Amino acid sequence: MVEDAADADPRAAVVAAVRRLDALGLNRGSTGNVSVRAPRDGVGGCWITPTGAAAQGLGADDLVWVGDDGRVDGRWQPSSETPMHLAVYAARADLHAVVHVHAVHATALACLRRPLPAFHYMVAVAGGDDVPCVPYHLFGSEALSQAVAAAFARRHAALLAHHGLVAGGRSLEQAMTVTVEVEALCRTYLAALAVGEPALLDAAQMAAVIERFTGYGRTARR
Ligand SMILES: [Zn+2]
Repeated sequence: MVEDAADADPRAAVVAAVRRLDALGLNRGSTGNVSVRAPRDGVGGCWITPTGAAAQGLGADDLVWVGDDGRVDGRWQPSSETPMHLAVYAARADLHAVVHVHAVHATALACLRRPLPAFHYMVAVAGGDDVPCVPYHLFGSEALSQAVAAAFARRHAALLAHHGLVAGGRSLEQAMTVTVEVEALCRTYLAALAVGEPALLDAAQMAAVIERFTGYGRTARR
C-alpha cells in the first residue's frame, strides 16, 4: 500500500477527504461517501462515512466500521452505498480506498449512458483507455455492487448510469486524485461534445501513457 495520511489515522483522513470534496463542489449535499479498507480481527472491512452525512460537523467518531461478515460498529447507519465499496475491495486486493460522488459533470455524462473515452491522455488515470459507464441499477443494490466490481476488474474508476462516479486507489490520496481528475475530464469532454465529436487517441497512444504512468508509480514507491 502507498503510504499516506490514511495509514496514521484512517478515520481522520476520511473526514478530511469529505471536507475536500465539499470544498471542491464535488460532494453535492450529502450524496458523497468515502471509505478506507480496514480489516479487523482477521475480517475484511472498511471505515465508511455514515448515511446522509454532511461534511460540516462530520467527525472521526461519526465514521462506521463495516465488516465483510455483516458486522457494523458505529453510532450511525453506514452509507447506503456500503455494499458497492465492499464489492470493490473484494474485487481488487490492491485498492485501499474508495470515493463515490454525484459530481455534476461525471453524472451528466453518466446520464447519457456514455463512457469517458480516450479523448485526452489523462483518461489513463483510471487505469485504461476509457472510464466505463456501468448500467443503471438501484443504489445500494447487489446488482449495482456486482456491476461495479466487474468494471473494476480492469479499471479503478467507473461512471454509474443515472447516478454518479466511483473511484478507487491504492491510497485515499490516489482515490481522491482519480475522482477530481475524472470529474474535470468529464467537464472538458462535455465542453468538446458541445462543439463536435472529439477525435480519440488510439490504443497504442494510450498504452504509452499507461506505461509512463506505471513507471512514475514505480519511481515514487522506491
Ligand atoms: Zn450515490
